Amino acid sequence: MEFTDLGLSEPILKALAAKKYANPTPIQQKAIPVLLEGKDLCGIAQTGTGKTAAFALPSLDYFARNPKQTPIKGCRMLVLSPTRELAAQIAQSFRDYGRFLKLSVETVFGGVPINKQIRALSHGVDIVVATPGRLLDLIDQRAFTIKDTEIFVLDEADQMMDMGFIHPLRRVAKLLPRDRQNLFFSATMPKEIEALAGQFLNDPVKVSVAPQSTTAERVRQQATFVNQAEKQALLHIVLKNEDIDRALIFTRTKHGADRVVRFLEGAGIDAFAIHGNKSQGQRTTALQAFRQGKVKLLVATDIAARGIDVSGVSHVINFEIPNVPEQYVHRIGRTARAGAEGVAISFVADDERPYLKAIEKATRVKLEIEPLPENFLEAVRSLPKPAAPRKGPKQTPAQQTKRAEGQRRYQDQQKAQRGAPDKAHRGEGDGAAKPARRRRRGSVGAHKGAVQRTGAPR
Ligand code: AMP
Repeated sequence: MEFTDLGLSEPILKALAAKKYANPTPIQQKAIPVLLEGKDLCGIAQTGTGKTAAFALPSLDYFARNPKQTPIKGCRMLVLSPTRELAAQIAQSFRDYGRFLKLSVETVFGGVPINKQIRALSHGVDIVVATPGRLLDLIDQRAFTIKDTEIFVLDEADQMMDMGFIHPLRRVAKLLPRDRQNLFFSATMPKEIEALAGQFLNDPVKVSVAPQSTTAERVRQQATFVNQAEKQALLHIVLKNEDIDRALIFTRTKHGADRVVRFLEGAGIDAFAIHGNKSQGQRTTALQAFRQGKVKLLVATDIAARGIDVSGVSHVINFEIPNVPEQYVHRIGRTARAGAEGVAISFVADDERPYLKAIEKATRVKLEIEPLPENFLEAVRSLPKPAAPRKGPKQTPAQQTKRAEGQRRYQDQQKAQRGAPDKAHRGEGDGAAKPARRRRRGSVGAHKGAVQRTGAPR
């Protein structure tokens, strides 16, 4: 099937051609005809399936065919997203697909001055992409109304629930007009999400492109058992040995994300963190640098990374395993996008083994167990100290010198190891040792002892 078969109007087809999209993805094939008929839709789809275009294209088509003055302090279409990053991304998609239409698109989210948003909305806007909190702030200040909304989209509904947006969403439901088209998207559809969908949708057509908790098929999924305290050392080796274009490293907490970045900085490796304690400016800068390839490593918490679409992510590294299986599916969905292959590597500490079990049960995929790499113990021993926190107390000159020396020693060692076999860890001065690549599968080999130190493999 081609986009031209779907009956979309000329300016939209032109924009798709400019983006070199010829064929609709499965969710687009299923959703676009239904939406062009004006029906409500309940879509089960993960990010990476093309669901943004699935709701943006038919809506733009509707606006192209039904031009109308924008309502003062209001909008014709409202898209709700759980995070600022996703909201910005969705708005960009609308601008891209609607570039040959004269439509206004604005984002509404916290972390940026509200007055600028009030001004931008004052004459009315065609399409508003918002996070729930700031949207309700604006409504409470009487700077905005959603009573004229013709099309309403709730994206990433399960994430909205995880983030505690249930009450704001109930309020939004009450403020919307009765007569409107509704679109509801969620990666998973447990009972409570279905109940939420019931509050918005009117006799919806249901489309689904991935059964619940199905893991992206093109992702090679590996796990390594390792002590929590030794994960930094493992991360350094993985980053050195794997052929990484761009990697997303996930931690469970904001503090954990900062700590990973500081350890990487301590070893002279550039990385940015993105999480809820960072200012909007910092988050935008980090994401831009990652998108543009200026920095190859982005360390993120689940909430900040959810829905982010960055092409070319070759690796997802679960520095900490998520305690909810769906979260794992979302994380690894960041790689293997648009037909590419990806690698997901999970570091599993003893107390995380139950999480791994739950993930394998929910996804019905057994992760490949990778042994600890050959030079692991040496890497643990020579791990450079983390960089000092940016806002923390200043280091004394003596501390700075010591740290610089440590970094230099570490980098020299890394250089030497790249060119030479890892004798230190093999402990036998074996000249025939293999280069330290971590590619062997299914064997514990020389690291049996190291693996078992973290508890017996399953
Ligand atoms: P989404 O699931 O909306 O985050 O989209 C995932 C990625 O697929 C985005 O980079 C889109 O720009 C891209 N995409 C969406 N639809 C198509 C299509 N029909 N052909 C090629 N790429 C697409």
